[in-house]
Amino acid sequence: MPLENMKAMLGKAKEGKYAIGAFNILDYNSMKAVVQAAEELNAPVIVQTSVKTVKFWGAGPMIAWFRELAEPAKVPVAIHLDHCKEMDVIKECIEHGWTSVMIDASSKPFEENLALSRQVVEMARPKGITVEAELGAIVGVEDDIHVKEQDSHLADLQQSVEFCSKIKPDCFAPAIGTAHGIYKGEPKIAFDLLKEITEKTNVPIALHGGTGLSQEVFKRCIKLGCAKVNISTQLKYAFIDGFTEYHNNNPQEYNPLKELAAQYHKLKEAVTENINLFGSEGKAD
Ligand SMILES: [Zn+2]
Repeated sequence: MPLENMKAMLGKAKEGKYAIGAFNILDYNSMKAVVQAAEELNAPVIVQTSVKTVKFWGAGPMIAWFRELAEPAKVPVAIHLDHCKEMDVIKECIEHGWTSVMIDASSKPFEENLALSRQVVEMARPKGITVEAELGAIVGVEDDIHVKEQDSHLADLQQSVEFCSKIKPDCFAPAIGTAHGIYKGEPKIAFDLLKEITEKTNVPIALHGGTGLSQEVFKRCIKLGCAKVNISTQLKYAFIDGFTEYHNNNPQEYNPLKELAAQYHKLKEAVTENINLFGSEGKAD
């Protein structure tokens, strides 16, 4: 399939009340696990890259792996830059062929966030690249973004409405009480706020901090308008555990391809489990 942006897949997901999994990958092996799990389930999928990962490998190699995997795939696959506050990295990814980007200017004052997000939309939209923008402060650590509990705050409803009507993002990430990383205790999700934001903005919502939420919370958020669910932490665990578990069980063997195969299977299992949970299996047609 030709490379896809997020527009059509998120629109259909919002309409059909299911969600597209957006999985943060780390290298070729993890990217392959995401694309192949989606193909087996006939599910549209988003391969998500963090800024750190793009800087580690370089945009060139990553987009080459992506084309290699996504072009022959029988399901729509988008490549999306996650939480980016650096214009240079956004530009670099756009130039290299990313089909979607997230501008995260949520730590800035409202007007500044609006201006920066607008700049990215104006840069990306003419090229057919979709844009996700964030409002509020999601607690936890994601990549280079650290938000302490006392500094986290939910997105304001009126500001969300104003933001979306002015920017018209393809996907909106309001802070609704989820967290990046591992949850300590039961998260307090602002379901009513989510419902109102969806009703008043009519933009597909991205659910950040997906790892560790219960099935019930996922289902409720998806019903209330979350059309994109980000899974990052769970894949970091699968990436390391898949590799080390194999090695710990076979400590005499030094055959890295076996560890990598075990890692691939562990990652694919995690992706499969999430796609089934989000209801996007069979939605690629
Ligand atoms: Zn996030």
